[in-house]
Amino acid sequence: MNGNLLIVSAPSGTGKTSILKRVIDQVKQLEFSVSHTTRPSRNGEQEGRDYHFVNRQTFERMIAENAFLEWAMVHDNYYGTAVEPVEEKLRHGFDVILDIDVQGAEIIRQQHRIDYIDVFIAPPDATELEARLRRRGTEDEQSIATRLANSAEEMEQSSKYRYLVVNDQLEDAVTMLCAIIYAQRAEGRRNLHGVSHRISL
Ligand code: 5GP
Repeated sequence: MNGNLLIVSAPSGTGKTSILKRVIDQVKQLEFSVSHTTRPSRNGEQEGRDYHFVNRQTFERMIAENAFLEWAMVHDNYYGTAVEPVEEKLRHGFDVILDIDVQGAEIIRQQHRIDYIDVFIAPPDATELEARLRRRGTEDEQSIATRLANSAEEMEQSSKYRYLVVNDQLEDAVTMLCAIIYAQRAEGRRNLHGVSHRISL
């Protein structure tokens, strides 16, 4: 059986990366799709684990070769999901998480090329978002300003997503996302075996 594709979007600083790391550790048969980006790597980030860090020329060549399922310009850098590794993981029955922005999610919706479940992770409120972004200490002032300005626009897109998880308490958000993944698997099994009409509960 093919795996499920999960699109997860959130404004920068929402805590999405921490949530996703925990979910990947807890749920079996679930893999993270490693995106390509032209953004420079941050301290502690590893090539091939967090991102494939490439230059503009390489990224633009990949666009020309149709190597991406989706790509977008986010906070002044290119980000994209290479299609081949995602399809391969799905074919092998793994569920795959795409950590992509609202533009990328919209591209996947519009192209009707692949089935997906989409989840939006929201911060409890805007003040907390700014505080988290500053506490994280990975961005300079310019980048913090860009990310905050973009977050309002991103929040407006949240209603397009099937699921909404508010990251108030990290552990609760992790539980919620795991529940979404398990529910989707259960639905897939039901469809696969066509057993819904034969089971009386
Ligand atoms: P960051 O620079 O903080 O790692 O990521 C910035 C934004 O880019 C996040 O919203 C993240 O979800 C998004 N992003 C990461 N990879 C991709 C991708 O492959 N495609 C798209 N469209 N967005 C991505």
